[in-house]
Amino acid sequence: MGSSRRSGRWPHGRPGRRSVLLGGAAVLGTGLSAAAALHAVPARAAVRPPIAGCDEWGARPPTLPVTVYAARPHKVIVHHTASPNSEDDSQAHAYALARSIQDAHLGRGWIDSGQHFTISRYGQVMEGRHRSLETLFGGAAMVESAHTTAQNTVAIGIENEGTYDTAQPPSELYASLVELCVAVCTRYGLRAYQIYGHRDFTDTDCPGDQLHDRLPRLRADVASRIGGSPVAPAWPTLTAGARGERVRSVQFLLRQHGSALTVTGTYDTATAQAVHSFQGAVKARVDGVAGQQTWNQLVAPLALGGSGEAVRAVQSQLAAYGSDVRVDGAFGPATRSAVASFQAGASLPSDGVVDARTWAALVT
Ligand SMILES: [Zn+2]
Repeated sequence: MGSSRRSGRWPHGRPGRRSVLLGGAAVLGTGLSAAAALHAVPARAAVRPPIAGCDEWGARPPTLPVTVYAARPHKVIVHHTASPNSEDDSQAHAYALARSIQDAHLGRGWIDSGQHFTISRYGQVMEGRHRSLETLFGGAAMVESAHTTAQNTVAIGIENEGTYDTAQPPSELYASLVELCVAVCTRYGLRAYQIYGHRDFTDTDCPGDQLHDRLPRLRADVASRIGGSPVAPAWPTLTAGARGERVRSVQFLLRQHGSALTVTGTYDTATAQAVHSFQGAVKARVDGVAGQQTWNQLVAPLALGGSGEAVRAVQSQLAAYGSDVRVDGAFGPATRSAVASFQAGASLPSDGVVDARTWAALVT
């Protein structure tokens, strides 16, 4: 999760059976039937991984009711637990891991486990925060979490047991991560490019160099199952002295996040200071440079009916590309049409929704 190390010590119960493979498995192991009990929504077995619910691994109740938002997440964020790379493949070990994480998070004063899901090194998938499973299988709502600053109401967080700074994630863990991502993306209508690592948003080593380096393959493996592009958005790096429409975009977006900055199109001292302030607030690397973490934290999807400074950023970009759309901060039919035209020209799905890929294409 964060860069801090947990003690990694937890009580080991009696060895249980090794986790069954996810996805399409006809036989669910003992204690792996939570998903089966929750599949109110008909779905192909291939998108219903066996996930041990909080009751199965012995969670304590949350200290306050968890908050459920009636909205779908728009991304998945991958973490590592930064705990030891255990060789214990028992279910008892996996469940003890889930309890130890919950204990640590409750100890921080959080109401429950911070993440939505946890995967043991031997591939056991477990619910993290209560109601994460129920909302996943409903497909229309998400639980507020505590895994990535400023992303906890829009991103599903997955903790992967172990430390992957130099070690490779085990094949069992990786296989379960693919299956869980397929399930999350399918249930919530996400694309594979919307899978990120913790360090793409905040100043942390998480999920370790090796697991982070695995993300392009993870996106490709998920895309091969659900379709769509696996290519994550790439952002320009803007520094002091930069000029132009992309600087105006950053300035509009900073205003969207509460800054009183004037939109000038020049990356001046005031802009660098506003970026500094924003980076501090979202726990990104504080350097005053608008790079990957800053862009990822600044942008959110926009669609018909949206309004505000972020909409102005889009409209101003479209105008710079030659559209006659008005820069009025109101995302109406004309803006949607202009976005769809831009997407068609950029070989993106022409749906009129400004997702992260469309944002990146606009500013790159
Ligand atoms: Zn993390």
